[in-house]
Amino acid sequence: MTINFTARTEELTPAMIEQRRDFHRHPELAFQEVRTAGIVAKTLGELGLEVQTGIGKTGVVGILEGDHEGPTLLIRADMDALPILEANETDYVSETSGVMHACGHDGHTAIGLTVAKMLSEYRGDIHGRVKFVFQPAEEIGQGAKAMVDDGALKDPRPDFTIGLHLWNEVEVGTVAVMDGPSMAAADLWTCVITGYGGHGALPHQTQDPIVAAAQIVSAVQTIVSRNTDAIDAAVVTVGSIKGGDAFNVIPATVELKGTIRTFTKATKAIVHQRLREICEGVAQAMGCTADLEIDERTIAVHNDPEISGRVRRVAVDLFGEEAVRSDVRTMGAEDVSCFMDDIPGCYFFVGSANRERDLAYPHHNPRFDFDEQALTIGAALLASAAAEFMIPGE
Ligand SMILES: [Zn+2]
Ligand SMILES: [Zn+2]
Repeated sequence: MTINFTARTEELTPAMIEQRRDFHRHPELAFQEVRTAGIVAKTLGELGLEVQTGIGKTGVVGILEGDHEGPTLLIRADMDALPILEANETDYVSETSGVMHACGHDGHTAIGLTVAKMLSEYRGDIHGRVKFVFQPAEEIGQGAKAMVDDGALKDPRPDFTIGLHLWNEVEVGTVAVMDGPSMAAADLWTCVITGYGGHGALPHQTQDPIVAAAQIVSAVQTIVSRNTDAIDAAVVTVGSIKGGDAFNVIPATVELKGTIRTFTKATKAIVHQRLREICEGVAQAMGCTADLEIDERTIAVHNDPEISGRVRRVAVDLFGEEAVRSDVRTMGAEDVSCFMDDIPGCYFFVGSANRERDLAYPHHNPRFDFDEQALTIGAALLASAAAEFMIPGE
């Protein structure tokens, strides 16, 4: 490893915490991150980066051009908050009622800016360039794609991608760097079952879509239990059933909505095929028809073993063997995968929970908060890993 950024990160930590708390006080929902993006663009500009704004509506790209020829590294941070009423009573509690940074993206933005500052101090040593991508709308799974559609992966196209998520499933002081798949692909599905409505007392005159929907909800449970390989994890969830308004009326239609989570393309294909067969086949057997639409929202986060191996070695150098795990996977999804599709990369987790300090609520909980020591750990590792790729040793 060329440079250990731990000491410099510690110097910058008070300012990083202050900035994270400022973002926390002023959370902004997906594609509304105007204040946050403004601060990001101004800060990157002051550091001398070439800044592009309005990439994917509210996204910001900053390019740090090194003095030497070399590859392009993309570093990604996300900026959006969630529609949650914060239940914490800190002095940096959300000042926007009903909107809250309950996933740690306030920390990601502060870490990204701190890493940009530290790397900009080594411009003369950087071989290639670092493309900082501050992304909107991760929570609705649309921000990364919006930025890619606006050219975030062009001029220049990155050769590799790194990024992190603060992670309250893991105690602060531990980081987790996986090889291969670490976060699932997320598809959203909608199935409209159409029957023939009528009087609730005269069901023989109808084709009842509610009964058909009930059979479909039961039958889709067999996809994961009977059709997919138990070694390759998958989830099929029905999250919404809508149909009917009255005690005595059989409706004409019922709408089911749900999500599918998978790690591999092969398992995803099996789930899609079986879901379609079950929806259409069961509906038909019940005298109804089914119209299934699947929206492939986010592909799986798949870490390149060579890139994650190098990041893991840097983590071990910084924090020691016992602080680095490689066994943390989640069925949760992350659209950072959009920046890693055909571009080798590593997206790692930085443990941020502290049970003793009651900082262990899950992500998206109204009492979510994290141990801010994770900011120091995350920024030091992200900057040192970037140096591993961009600043060759003697
Ligand atoms: Zn989240
Ligand atoms: Zn998140």
